[in-house]
Amino acid sequence: MSERTIVEPGVVLGQWWRRTADGRIQCDLCPRACKLHEGQRGFCFVRQARDGGIVLTSYGRASGFCIDPIEKKPLNHFYPGTSVLSFGTAGCNLGCRFCQNWDISKARAMDRLGDWAAPEAVAEAAVRAGCRSIAFTYNDPVIFAEYAIDCAQAAHARGLKAVAVSAGYITPLARPEFYAHMDAANIDLKAFTDQFYHRLCFAALAPVLDTLRWLRHATQVWFEVTTLLIPGHNDSEDEVARLCDWFAENLGPDVPLHFTAFHPDFKMRDVPHTPASTLVRARTQALAAGLHYVYTGNVHDQAGQSTYCAECGKLLIERDWYELGRWNLDARGGCAFCGARLAGYFDPRPGRWGARRQQVLSSQF
Ligand code: SF4
Repeated sequence: MSERTIVEPGVVLGQWWRRTADGRIQCDLCPRACKLHEGQRGFCFVRQARDGGIVLTSYGRASGFCIDPIEKKPLNHFYPGTSVLSFGTAGCNLGCRFCQNWDISKARAMDRLGDWAAPEAVAEAAVRAGCRSIAFTYNDPVIFAEYAIDCAQAAHARGLKAVAVSAGYITPLARPEFYAHMDAANIDLKAFTDQFYHRLCFAALAPVLDTLRWLRHATQVWFEVTTLLIPGHNDSEDEVARLCDWFAENLGPDVPLHFTAFHPDFKMRDVPHTPASTLVRARTQALAAGLHYVYTGNVHDQAGQSTYCAECGKLLIERDWYELGRWNLDARGGCAFCGARLAGYFDPRPGRWGARRQQVLSSQF
């Protein structure tokens, strides 16, 4: 277990920073590279320059504990049907106008944060609840990397897996240590134009593409990618085609891609829901580009949410939203019809958690 220096309850010394020539502290955790005067907080709000270094002010201050189906992360090829203890903290290093968890990610006060939840207590709670894994989600775990790493280590010590749900906005300096502790990830690829990232997320596309390539070629982390299609902003046939071509060329055919439906939220309430037809069209484009596993999300679409064998085309795992149906994998995770191995991680039998979502109070820890 990492030895953290505790400054005060909920505050630990942070990693990944340097001193700039003008005496400020630069955070090197994400590409935003905030340069901070003493006492100043970064864009993410939870990292602060203090006593000549950086501190993380949300260590152990988890909020929103829920037991979710792993398919909700979404991960369709990582122990399907199992449950995952999911939680976040507060703040975020992106500023997405369409954020679907804005009450957490935009929290500017610690009152959004829950009670103290030590990494060991989180892992213990997951074991007691029968979860296969724990997930850092709701807000981006990159900003609370030290806490996420310690929770992942505690999870591993109890035989659980650790999952990061992230926008992939992390520096090449920090990502090796962060992802060395993660078994799986879902990375948001929010669009395929820099303009979208700049205008709607106050971020940039290139570092995200770089993280995706790095995950695929330099790590063993199982990851899937999600693109939330927002009508009129990132859902054009041309943009989806360019995204799919890049994906096939840089990540290969076996990384699953999820196209999910937007619902009006936060600062984009004037944009309509994504029609199911847009998701189906994007999925068809991605399959035509050569990707093997492409899914629709946030709608009912059994055909678009089920998994098919890349060799023989037969149905392997039937899904409707988060509910599993027919299961045609052999005990080794191969196609029951032709034996071809399905990319991902599978237990001999599917989990039985179903589509349930169950809140867990930290007082129950
Ligand atoms: S992690 Fe936070 S403080 Fe560090 S660079 Fe990113 S937004 Fe700034």
